[in-house]
Amino acid sequence: MSQPDQLIIFDTTLRDGEQSPGASMTKDEKVRIGKALEKLQVDVIEAGFPIASHGDFEAVSAVAKAVKDSTVCGLARALDKDIDRAGEALKEATSGRIHTFIATSPIHMQHKLRMNPDQVVEQAVHAVKRARNYTDNVEFSAEDAGRSEIDFLCRIFEAVINAGATTLNVPDTVGYAMPHQFGDLIHRMRERVPNADKAIFSVHCHNDLGLEVANSLSAVSNGARQVECTINGLGERAGNASLEEIVMAVRTLLLPDKVRHHTDRRLLQIGIQHYRISSATQQGHRRSKCLCP
Ligand SMILES: [Zn+2]
Repeated sequence: MSQPDQLIIFDTTLRDGEQSPGASMTKDEKVRIGKALEKLQVDVIEAGFPIASHGDFEAVSAVAKAVKDSTVCGLARALDKDIDRAGEALKEATSGRIHTFIATSPIHMQHKLRMNPDQVVEQAVHAVKRARNYTDNVEFSAEDAGRSEIDFLCRIFEAVINAGATTLNVPDTVGYAMPHQFGDLIHRMRERVPNADKAIFSVHCHNDLGLEVANSLSAVSNGARQVECTINGLGERAGNASLEEIVMAVRTLLLPDKVRHHTDRRLLQIGIQHYRISSATQQGHRRSKCLCP
């Protein structure tokens, strides 16, 4: 990709974050938070899951209309109806992204999808191609990647890049990974996927074992260039990686200079916007939060 040294901050407060108990938001609140995230210079704002409900569709549309300087993203399963709904919700976005996903771990393929690996690859490729009809900015997530087999991940990633995916997300969906192992997974996939240089590797980590930020940083050290995170670490179950901790850690730790440089500009806005968003989602700060450089 053209900017391999830039770390892309992908905020999913409005989608994954909203799944925290007590954090559901109205359309107007989502627009307000979307504007605050834009001010924070977040690169990508995941605004919701348009197929999930009429309200979610309306909220994603409204954020897509209101936000001009960040890319606005809608989530979609690897199903035609989901992708079409996301494409419709994003139609007025200045810059829109469709984020489609399908499970790739043996346990999910067998028991949740009831599909074999060939069918999963075929459906993923079809979904990415369909999403490309709406935007050339398509992210593919291998759901439950943390428990998937690396050979299969490499195979499906190669196929979806060929189909037009520009970002490959590796979620630790169940918060099960360890930092050294998760970083090594990113490293090996970047080496083994033959067309890996045509896409950005992304990570999405959960906090069930308290390792979400450590896992994300380990992935960045091994070449991931997008981190998915939320304000205050909001998110399903124990939460996601917190945006403020990721940005501060990337700046402070010994990661490549150019990566640090691109995150510095965001620090100026973090304190104010973090406070505003925390108020809107009615979630207080975790006491351990460091909000200044
Ligand atoms: Zn998640």
